[in-house]
Amino acid sequence: MTSLRLGIDLDGVVADFVAGWISRYNQEFEADLTPSSVTTWDGLHTLTHFRNKDEFWRWASDHGGGSVFRHLETYDGATQALHELAMQGHQVVILTLKPDWAVHDTFAWIGDHRIPTREVHIISEKWQVPCDIYLDDSPDQLARYLEHRPDRLICRFVRPWNDPIEGVLDVQSWADFVELTTTRSRAH
Ligand SMILES: [Mg+2]
Repeated sequence: MTSLRLGIDLDGVVADFVAGWISRYNQEFEADLTPSSVTTWDGLHTLTHFRNKDEFWRWASDHGGGSVFRHLETYDGATQALHELAMQGHQVVILTLKPDWAVHDTFAWIGDHRIPTREVHIISEKWQVPCDIYLDDSPDQLARYLEHRPDRLICRFVRPWNDPIEGVLDVQSWADFVELTTTRSRAH
């Protein structure tokens, strides 16, 4: 088995950003949004009373001393899968895009959740970090991987807010991702 570098996104892949901000929003504004109402990549604020993106992110950046990113839950099976992959000898490389105000919360969150990684990049040009397999839910990041790293295995974590892309492999679950990584590392 070959040890592979796995470039793993956080929000929408490991961390449930949608459920996190929605539960916070409902509590604070006595609203009744459900995570299933999020079906597009852009325009989150259109589901809320905020007038624009900036208002939404200003609210998200401050919840009693922490940002929304400090309080997210993990998706079912996500941390277990990462531990399993790390135990198999693969390198979990965290590739996450965050505003400046979320950087420290991101490191704290990674620590709280005992994410098995020794390498974290908070970066917008994720493709600049060489990995064997990339896993992301962002249509934009997937397109950039495809443009700049066409020889790597690029995986879309299938979510209601993304669509299939030619040349990108669909991953439906963490179990799927563990299986394809294991198969890939045996083939190397
Ligand atoms: Mg993401």
